[in-house]
Amino acid sequence: MQDIKSLTLDELKKEMELLGEKPFRAGQMYQWMHVKLARSFDEMTNLSLALREKCREYFEYTALKMVRMQESAIDGTRKYLFELGDGKLIESVWMRYRHGNSVCISSQAGCRMGCSFCASTLGGLERSLKPSEMLDQIYAITLLTGERVSNVVVMGMGEPLDNYDNLLKFIKLVTDENGLHIGQRSITVSTCGLADEMKRLADEKLQITLALSLHAADDEKRREMMPVANRYSIPELIEACAYYFEKTGRRITFEYSLVKGVNDSAGDAERLSALIGNLNCHVNLIPVNPVVERKYVQPNVQKITDFKNKLEKNGINVTIRREMGRDIDGACGQLRRRQKQ
Ligand code: SAH
Repeated sequence: MQDIKSLTLDELKKEMELLGEKPFRAGQMYQWMHVKLARSFDEMTNLSLALREKCREYFEYTALKMVRMQESAIDGTRKYLFELGDGKLIESVWMRYRHGNSVCISSQAGCRMGCSFCASTLGGLERSLKPSEMLDQIYAITLLTGERVSNVVVMGMGEPLDNYDNLLKFIKLVTDENGLHIGQRSITVSTCGLADEMKRLADEKLQITLALSLHAADDEKRREMMPVANRYSIPELIEACAYYFEKTGRRITFEYSLVKGVNDSAGDAERLSALIGNLNCHVNLIPVNPVVERKYVQPNVQKITDFKNKLEKNGINVTIRREMGRDIDGACGQLRRRQKQ
């Protein structure tokens, strides 16, 4: 069955023609799905009952079921556990900032990248999400909060560039002026560093922000934390970042999770500075979120500040990520993990 919410308006028009319907019906349905955020064909009350029935036979209509929601008492961040149509679980996070609401979405159920500090990967990859299922996380949260989402970060469970085609289709749909119409510049895609796909993404010449999870400034250390580092070396990644900037003019974000005694020394800060000093970039320091199943702990505040100061002294743009939702299993994959046990 065709997954109707993953179709572009043009594709939907063709489908309607095949069903012997007028093309303007596609426009109506598209608006129901992507603007009015209908959760089923039943809600599409300006379509005849016969057409709704026909659609139910021909198309799959995805919708998420909310399993749990946890709200942070500290900052109002909400973490949602959603169930997909086939029962698999994913997480999404809603964060309220001064400049608008941001949603962090998952791109896969589980993950096969195996990063040693991340809870999403503990059970391996279950499956990749369809474009509709990425949209559904934003739509469901918009309905649940009653507030518009203005920023999207693809930083939840999964490796987005390991689900490349669906990610691209999702970006096309979520930025569509006939849909939610979120600006490309309001979208960030975070990758563990699949260099070939990063270059492929650069060639699409989109205006989205690319974030690279670097976490270490030398390959040996990075390989201990991230198995993907055996596939692509840091120089290859830096080259891919430079290429991304060259093609899109978009500044790269480097994510660097600080782990006590692993990657938080003055030497680490120096090596990082030397590595990225010539790039137009921004570093986001994330004090590692301790995961029960993992042994990593955060450096103390002084150590984190020292690291930041060292980068700044070397002329690098850096922020320490405001830790949101620490009290609600904020780190990737933790809530789902708890539900399963
Ligand atoms: N697969 C993508 C996106 C998902 S993870 C990627 O690797 O970038 C989003 C970010 O959170 C990544 O930078 C990831 O390395 C980081 N992360 C995962 N678990 C974490 C933890 N326990 N503490 C701090 N950061 C974590």
